[in-house]
Amino acid sequence: MDKKISPVRESIKYCFRQIKQYKRSYLPLSVINVIIGAAAPFSELIFLPLAIDALMAEEKNVPLILFYFGIMTTLTILLQGSNSVLSIHLAKCEDLFLNASSREISARCMEIDFSLTEDKAALDQIKKAREGIQWSGGTHQIAGAFFTIISNVIKIFGVIAVLIINAPILLIIIGVLLVLSAIINARKNDIDIKNFTELSGINRIFGHICWEMEDFRYGKDVRLYSAAGMMLEKTSQQIKRLSDYWENINRLKFPLNILDIIVGVLRDFGTYLYLGALAILGKISIGTFSQMLSAGGTLHSSLQAVIMGAQDIAKRSNYMYEIIRFMDYPPAMEKGSRKIENINGGHEIEFKNVCFSYPKTGVAVLKDVSIKIKAGEKLSVVGLNGAGKTTFIKLLCRLYDVDSGEILLDGVNIRDYDYDEYMKLFSVVFQDFRLLAFSAEDNILLGRHEEGSDKIVDDLFEKTGILEKIKSLPKGRDTMMFKQFDKDGVELSGGQQQKMAIARALYKDAPVIILDEPTAALDPVAEYEIYRQFNSLVNGKTAVYISHRLSSCKFCDNIAVFSEGTVKEYGTHDELVHKTDGIYAEMFKAQAQYYV
Ligand code: ADP
Repeated sequence: MDKKISPVRESIKYCFRQIKQYKRSYLPLSVINVIIGAAAPFSELIFLPLAIDALMAEEKNVPLILFYFGIMTTLTILLQGSNSVLSIHLAKCEDLFLNASSREISARCMEIDFSLTEDKAALDQIKKAREGIQWSGGTHQIAGAFFTIISNVIKIFGVIAVLIINAPILLIIIGVLLVLSAIINARKNDIDIKNFTELSGINRIFGHICWEMEDFRYGKDVRLYSAAGMMLEKTSQQIKRLSDYWENINRLKFPLNILDIIVGVLRDFGTYLYLGALAILGKISIGTFSQMLSAGGTLHSSLQAVIMGAQDIAKRSNYMYEIIRFMDYPPAMEKGSRKIENINGGHEIEFKNVCFSYPKTGVAVLKDVSIKIKAGEKLSVVGLNGAGKTTFIKLLCRLYDVDSGEILLDGVNIRDYDYDEYMKLFSVVFQDFRLLAFSAEDNILLGRHEEGSDKIVDDLFEKTGILEKIKSLPKGRDTMMFKQFDKDGVELSGGQQQKMAIARALYKDAPVIILDEPTAALDPVAEYEIYRQFNSLVNGKTAVYISHRLSSCKFCDNIAVFSEGTVKEYGTHDELVHKTDGIYAEMFKAQAQYYV
């Protein structure tokens, strides 16, 4: 854990920030509740012994006895009643704060550097943050524990004042045994905290396997390759790990639980012995005996509530701190602040001796790649599977940073540019693009609704050849993709989804368009249509186009042939296709028999 940082302080700050942001009234209501909660036991503590002594007196003053009981009952009902009403009201905020934390974590997941989404430490931190919400109980539980402590501190001062006069030794008995109890509890908390990392790891793996089992995208492969058995076996392994984990925790805590019981018995025994002796010796009346007993009980429960509350806050804060850690997760990439000049104009891109390996793999995927893409140029990137084509695009889009060499935009290293602005340069359709389970239109607009956008969307659907399909759907553009949120949602084919993804990229209208295997899932007719329209689709913008189908290269100004992580050939289709022993010429010949 970071040295100077106190998880408790950070978590309390986090809670107060959430209260301020999401429910300001929570704070004053909690303060009122603290005062009421602290006052509640005193009505009984003050009036009950008076009533008992009045009852025991030789001359019974009935109106006085009734008065004592009446006032005690009324005060108790009023105080405890309003305490419970307020507590219930405050408890309603629990979900509000929990959901707010959950949303904050999700939002952060969308903005952390992309490379971290494949980084085990970062993934573990996300899992820990998620579990941190659950285990800390969120702002309501921590703030609740904090206010309970304050309320109990007030009670403690009150009962000490009552006890010190008649039974000072009881203070010592309760104090000493409570310290023992606190030590035991601290040991138990330590056990939970020390083992939390292991628990998160197990839950992350278990959750991931369950997610794969539930996700219908894996459904076909799971059925056709009979993978269900293996998946279930993997979950069984994690369930076994989990049960071993809890068994171990229970074994570690068992002696502490026994000690806890012994301390409780000693405390009760000591209290009765001491107060009984005082009463027998005539030092206190029966009323005072009952008052001291009740004050002792209140002192013990209040002290315990303070100590346990403090320990509870410390423990919960450690869990909550995992949320804060994730929110402050250090970036994986350098980001500059330079503005891009004439962002919507043409831009020259240059890779200069770029080398790259995926984080923590040590395997060089791109080796000394140098290539220039002029403004408005259409570049086709081809090569066998695993040659590094997609990686080349990921680096260009700053999803990862190069290991050495540099990527320049208009002669300036892309690291120097403002990251958000740089991301505006690209419209990309990745091979593994995903549509969201929202409406067809929302999938294109992604919140960028503007005047006339309906018409633009229809035009794009028309250009990418999906308009007819969308129009045939019961709710047209408002039809939901997939069935997660709507039973009438539609399951489009791979090719249709790809057309939607291309329409989405074109709607962004960025100056550089990148299509990674844009036609892989399209049938030959749709592919031909996309190619035919390609120039009008990209509308004179710079375009990088990765494809396995070399016929598409004819539409491009230049072709870069990737092989073994580097650009082995570069030129126009006509130059490369006639090159003796050229990779491109070979690949083209091999494919031509199917296409020509
Ligand atoms: P292509 O697009 O030419 O098929 P890629 O750029 O996708 O090739 O992949 C190049 C190499 O990088 C492959 O060996 C692949 O296994 C590896 N690779 C791709 N993505 C990752 C990743 N996220 N982590 C580690 N290795 C990766």
